[in-house]
Amino acid sequence: MRVLIIEDEIKIASFMKNGLKQERYEVDLETNGRDGLELAMNTQYDLILLDVMLPGINGIEILKELRANNYNVPVILISALDSTEDRVNGLDFGADDYISKPFSFDELAARIRAILRRTQKHKSTKLHAGELTLDTVTHLAYRDNKEIELTTKEYSLLMFLMINKNKVLTRNSITQNVWGEDLDKDSNVIDVYIKKLRSKIEKKGTRPTIQSIRSVGYRLRDDSALEEFKNNEN
Ligand code: CA
Repeated sequence: MRVLIIEDEIKIASFMKNGLKQERYEVDLETNGRDGLELAMNTQYDLILLDVMLPGINGIEILKELRANNYNVPVILISALDSTEDRVNGLDFGADDYISKPFSFDELAARIRAILRRTQKHKSTKLHAGELTLDTVTHLAYRDNKEIELTTKEYSLLMFLMINKNKVLTRNSITQNVWGEDLDKDSNVIDVYIKKLRSKIEKKGTRPTIQSIRSVGYRLRDDSALEEFKNNEN
């Protein structure tokens, strides 16, 4: 999922950007209205987070311009203004949702998921490994169609393992991709999370399973995919 943030307040912009990257969205940021509009018109985004008060052109003008040119990318307006009139205006000009500062990241993330659920319905957004399915729009995991509740970190970790299923992942690459730079090299956080994840996704005698690869890292093993691979080789 690719998201564009157009926001001139650096603190809020990086708060959103970092949070979304943690949730494994691809994120671009523009701090100027004019540059933001140009980028929005030249890049395929799944969603735009659009601040209202911006240098250059303001958010409402950007929104009008996009809609007038038939760009129907979902837009969430972000603003310090909180009157009913502003909300109605924003929605009338074609915004999909509206969030007022200050807001919590959890609320923003939930609103993004709600919009993406609606707009991405026709696109395939599911990862599979054996009986396990991970929906990258709703961030929900299922085993035999039963929902498994995951925390944000467990989701990121499982997604990374599933994208790379049957590959051995070093502890270093797991750290870099799931936690970013700030995790201590000697920390056992990865092992703790793997243990939690195992207890949630593994069922005795069924696939897939997370294997520990001694002194290297982990691998999510999906035998069904390996069998397919072997059949294709023959
Ligand atoms: Ca602003």
